[in-house]
Amino acid sequence: MKYIGAHVSAAGGVENAPIRAHKIGATAFAFFTKNQRQWQAKPLTEHSIEQFKRNCETYGYQPHQILPHDSYLINLGHPNPEKRQKSLDAFIDELQRCEQLGLTLLNFHPGSHLREISEAQCLQFIAESINTALDQTQSVTAVIENTAGQGSNLGYQHEQLAYLIDKVEDKTRIGVCIDTCHAYAAGYDLKNDYQGVFKNFSDVVGFQYLKGMHLNDSKAVLGQKLDRHHSLGEGEIGWTCFKQLMADPRIDNIPMTLETIDMSIWPEEIQQLKNFIPPLLK
Ligand SMILES: [Zn+2]
Ligand SMILES: [Zn+2]
Repeated sequence: MKYIGAHVSAAGGVENAPIRAHKIGATAFAFFTKNQRQWQAKPLTEHSIEQFKRNCETYGYQPHQILPHDSYLINLGHPNPEKRQKSLDAFIDELQRCEQLGLTLLNFHPGSHLREISEAQCLQFIAESINTALDQTQSVTAVIENTAGQGSNLGYQHEQLAYLIDKVEDKTRIGVCIDTCHAYAAGYDLKNDYQGVFKNFSDVVGFQYLKGMHLNDSKAVLGQKLDRHHSLGEGEIGWTCFKQLMADPRIDNIPMTLETIDMSIWPEEIQQLKNFIPPLLK
């Protein structure tokens, strides 16, 4: 099954996310379980948790179709130990919120060295943070998102994702999410060499770790290392890559969500993607 959706708003309570996803014809969705630009969040209320679960059931969303995203403030590889600890605490809180909601995945950006430490040292810190977070929680899989490599953000090479997976002790609770815009901006030519990019992904990371995808076109050109999303078909990547993704049997049964810039056309984008799915994969 191809599960296609978008990163929907949770304004007014997380229980609204599945309703909004259903309204745009989504069979998958992403959302923030708390305000993504603030450190502190009120705990989820019993009412919100119950309603969220009920709405997911009503509209047919199971945990493997839902990919929550953590706060943008979290940096698990922060060079400063106190700030890294603050990020780790917030990350554990996010994992626990997912557990409360009955969810099984949490998508996060690996971290940033802020030009104060080496890439290797930063990756080491990130791996340690993930291990501690998994130790202190029970069931949610930590899903590392590839980045465009903007600024000092790590996770822009398949080798970096593979390094983190290798260092994580519990391999059953670690995965990756590939964002097509980020991959393209990082230098992976999804427009002209779809097969080559995913051959490299398969060799270096492995499809067994692919737990989600973000479907975005890119305003940035190949290898420009800028994180600038665009509507599908409007940017540098173009429709062909997304058509190939919909027909790729290796990429199945995972949430694939839009983070494209024009929310008003999400229903059309989702429908277009669904139209590309060959009957055998529907
Ligand atoms: Zn992200
Ligand atoms: Zn993304």
